[in-house]
Amino acid sequence: MSTDLSRRLVVGISSRALFDLEDENRIFEAHGVDAYRQYQRDHEDEVLAPGAAFPLIRALLRLNDIDPHHPLVEVVIMSRNTADTGLRIFNSISHYQLGITRAAFSGGRSNAAYLDAFSVDLFLSRSARDVQAAVDSGIAAAEIYAPPEDFDPDQDQIRIAFDGDAVLFSDASERIYQQDGLEAFARLESELADVPLDEGPFAKLLKTLSYLQRSFPAGESPVRIALVTARNSPTHARVINTLRAWQVDVDEAFFMGGVSKHEILRAFRAHIFFDDQESHLQPASRVVPSGRVPQRSFQDNKKPAAKAAGLEEKET
Ligand SMILES: [Mg+2]
Repeated sequence: MSTDLSRRLVVGISSRALFDLEDENRIFEAHGVDAYRQYQRDHEDEVLAPGAAFPLIRALLRLNDIDPHHPLVEVVIMSRNTADTGLRIFNSISHYQLGITRAAFSGGRSNAAYLDAFSVDLFLSRSARDVQAAVDSGIAAAEIYAPPEDFDPDQDQIRIAFDGDAVLFSDASERIYQQDGLEAFARLESELADVPLDEGPFAKLLKTLSYLQRSFPAGESPVRIALVTARNSPTHARVINTLRAWQVDVDEAFFMGGVSKHEILRAFRAHIFFDDQESHLQPASRVVPSGRVPQRSFQDNKKPAAKAAGLEEKET
């Protein structure tokens, strides 16, 4: 009987996001695929150290212990390795007792084309190119940064933190801010406070997590979600109204108004933080695992930003 993955939260992850393969990657880049293959064979029995996304993946897989007959999460290795070099990865998976059984080894080719075949909801990789290809095909994807130094993940609950604009929400308002400045942005967002923001690349994932949360009694959800946005009053209202319109609850919301996000993320102990901006990700990635969310490369950027932000009717 075939397994239907579409009813689970499916995470596709590259071997380099799951395990620390930085030294191996340097060998690949400096000496090519043959030297890399030989190195991996020679070190096949050496267990790999955890990579940046390891704490998240381990915590997500633990959700399957709640009811082993109805697993909630599926993790699929999406690797540019060959199956031959992938053996060391499988050995490490088995060492850490991670419940991962499915893998796609694409032998050097991009694996973006296979994400749909596994019904992947979230793709995490160290490769900016692979992440861009996934985002362009409409899949929530993030480029994972190098692991933070002393990250101490919560063992009981999975903590996921999202930026707002250009991650959960579309980047239309963000573009107004960049083109016309803070004042124009604040004025527009106040005017449009009751108009829900368009969905961004991670909206569907938030909805899926929110659905999963609701399957547990109040206060007992194993997943905790935070919104950590640079917005503050008066631009917060549109965000709150958007979440209401989507019928999703976030457990914690931080409207930072220009204050650095990393201290909040450290205190929240996020297993992962998703943002689109380097200026937030650099400090954040030093304290919690972090992923950069790129924009779709073929999006309609020629559309005037005001129209994209929801002002279409007002102009006519
Ligand atoms: Mg943003």
